Amino acid sequence: MSHHRVAELLGDGISAELSASVHAIAEVLPFGLEFVPVDLSHENRERRGSGLYDEAAALALELGTALKYPTATTRESPNKVLREKLRFAVIHRPVCTIPGIQTNFKAKIDIDVVRIATGGTYDDPGRRIGLDTAVSLRVIERGPSRAAARFAFKLAQLRGTSVVSTSKYTIQRATDGLFEEAVQRVAEDYPAIPHRQELFDALLAGIIMKPERYNVIVCPNEYGDFLSDAACGLIGSVGLGDSANYSFGEDERVTTAMFDPAGGTAPDIAGKNVANPTAALLALANMIRHLGHPNECNALRAALLGAIADGECTADIRGKLSTTEFTAVVGARLSSALR
Ligand code: ATP
Repeated sequence: MSHHRVAELLGDGISAELSASVHAIAEVLPFGLEFVPVDLSHENRERRGSGLYDEAAALALELGTALKYPTATTRESPNKVLREKLRFAVIHRPVCTIPGIQTNFKAKIDIDVVRIATGGTYDDPGRRIGLDTAVSLRVIERGPSRAAARFAFKLAQLRGTSVVSTSKYTIQRATDGLFEEAVQRVAEDYPAIPHRQELFDALLAGIIMKPERYNVIVCPNEYGDFLSDAACGLIGSVGLGDSANYSFGEDERVTTAMFDPAGGTAPDIAGKNVANPTAALLALANMIRHLGHPNECNALRAALLGAIADGECTADIRGKLSTTEFTAVVGARLSSALR
């Protein structure tokens, strides 16, 4: 039986309940998952200071894989500190329709947004020039563009889908032109994977009108940020999804992968056994795919989505189950699927 050690970065609010749910489901999996914890709660951060982040980053780097729970942004944003310390270059945000969740949008969505984690317009706060003008620098780098593209093509290969790269390459010819050029070079290594370029504005309309034409989408930082939230709006939830951050070595292989639920710390419901662990369990599913277990990933996702579709879910999505009851239902479904 294979065995994996992963860093578990514990946070605030409902973090402990999400972790308990993840551990319960990990017990059902047919391989060993050992969680090595680091307490990134607000209290511990205040007590330990920057040494705590160094410990968390060193562990994540050593083990190569981490699962992170929501942390409160207080003095600093733990996500930002970890992103910088671990040099994350690519963010992956899967967004898929969850049957049973109320939406304003009727069609089915199943996309993977892969974005460059740095640059775009986000690294430079800009400055005022005189009273009525401001400028900021927009940065696109070949290295992270290649890393995002390679990640996108590998994911498309694994899922048997296509890749769309998107930006405003006809307007931002220098920056987005460089991004598309880097993607095109990577595409040449994957001749069997269909690839097309689409202007970002056209893509937004395309996703709404013909969502079945989109699978893996790769783009620069800010477009990916807009697109992820827009797509979450279409599936009726910004809090039920997960995301993953990746850093890469010289050889373009993943050095560290960190998986996390998209939602916040929900302090108002912490400790009440009502938190919805769906996003944390989707993060677990994505993590086990990364660890080389795609079948178990699919089985876990099916168990989760099946339970929600049948109304066996927590109160925030119109169910009646507690966190532990919902986890038990998902565990039972997963266990019978794996048998
Ligand atoms: P943070 O500052 O960490 O973002 P927050 O409470 O301001 O915390 P969220 O954590 O996103 O923001 O919570 C917004 C609302 O959604 C709250 O009422 C919370 O109880 C609810 N909520 C968030 N996550 C969950 C969850 N996993 N299960 C059930 N309800 C949740």
